[in-house]
Amino acid sequence: MTTPGFHRHRPVIARNGGPVPVRVAVRLRPFLDKDQQEKGSTVRGLGERALEICNWRNEQESLKYEFDAFYDEDTSQDKIFKSSVQNLLEHTLHGQNASVFAYGPTGAGKTHTMVGTSEDPGIIPRSVYGVLNAVAKERGSEDGEWTYTIGISYLEIYQEKVYDLLETKNHDLQIREDRDRNIFIPGLSEKTITDFQQFEKHFVPASQNRTTASTKLNSRSSRSHSILLLKVVKTQQVPPYRQLTGKLYLIDLAGSEDNRKTGNQGIRLKESGAINTSLFVLGQVVDALNSGQARIPYRDSKLTRLLQDSVGGTSHACMIVNLAPEESFYTDTYTTLNFAAKSKQIVNRPFTRESMVRPREVLKRPADSVTDAVSKRV
Ligand code: ADP
Ligand code: MG
Repeated sequence: MTTPGFHRHRPVIARNGGPVPVRVAVRLRPFLDKDQQEKGSTVRGLGERALEICNWRNEQESLKYEFDAFYDEDTSQDKIFKSSVQNLLEHTLHGQNASVFAYGPTGAGKTHTMVGTSEDPGIIPRSVYGVLNAVAKERGSEDGEWTYTIGISYLEIYQEKVYDLLETKNHDLQIREDRDRNIFIPGLSEKTITDFQQFEKHFVPASQNRTTASTKLNSRSSRSHSILLLKVVKTQQVPPYRQLTGKLYLIDLAGSEDNRKTGNQGIRLKESGAINTSLFVLGQVVDALNSGQARIPYRDSKLTRLLQDSVGGTSHACMIVNLAPEESFYTDTYTTLNFAAKSKQIVNRPFTRESMVRPREVLKRPADSVTDAVSKRV
């Protein structure tokens, strides 16, 4: 910063390009128990983008949804990363921001999708690896004009408060915006990484603490959003000493079943402190972006405030909606799909202001028998 003539480059990202829609992909996890499998899945894929679930109001009918992608239970972590996430990474090397979310009920595979296991890594380790490689490649292709710094932060939003997962003494952190409209969190720790081992050294213990501390359905981990922030700062070593900062947010969202207990009334959701405000507002933000609305309600929750410079504008985002095949998840599957797939994507728009009953039977009919049923509004 003491370099003579240094001036901080103002981001040149055009904000007039219009909001970029959020890519919404659905991932169905496999059955975890063979006995359950015999009963059949409540979710049936219809090709590469669409799926159906049975209609709880009339089991002769099905509800059909279309997204940007549908990943069935056999889809690998690699395929999901390559087809939905990989192309977002390059933005971070060009001073732009991007986000990836895992959305869905507790037990449907969000953490598996984001974190995975050491044998079968998910989106977070693959993305970190991808960014490290991209930086190494770019560095190799130019003659030392730029330096690159990669930093990680790991935080949690729980009951609208921000906690640092790398330095647990930091809690109730504030979210701020600088003059260039960049969002930042004063006091949030950031660890510089130069290779994948350094990333693992910081991330693995913090991540394990979070998952093993509590495994119950209503535990903190299922009600909080955990966010890995990967920041790439690229600084020019010769005039005009430009500096580009790109951020990638990788987010394991709170379980979407929280919403079920509150009904679908927006005002009620916002009034109650016990309800997941951030999750609710995120749905509104995605909806507003995907339907091209002028006002995007970023400021209405901590999560969306944090993502204000990383979702919409020229930033890119992908939401992976995780679903479970078991009948016991049916109500969550139904509310999750309706919440995630906003009016534009919903082929059949179900009426949701009534309490729900379990379907007596899961889908067993062949896919082609539903054509008439789906065009009928319920
Ligand atoms: P969530 O984070 O949404 O609560 P988890 O990721 O913890 O759900 O997944 C619940 C269980 O299902 C875990 O035991 C996990 O290993 C398993 N699981 C989730 N998705 C898959 C998948 N695609 N393939 C195999 N097992 C999975
Ligand atoms: Mg989880």
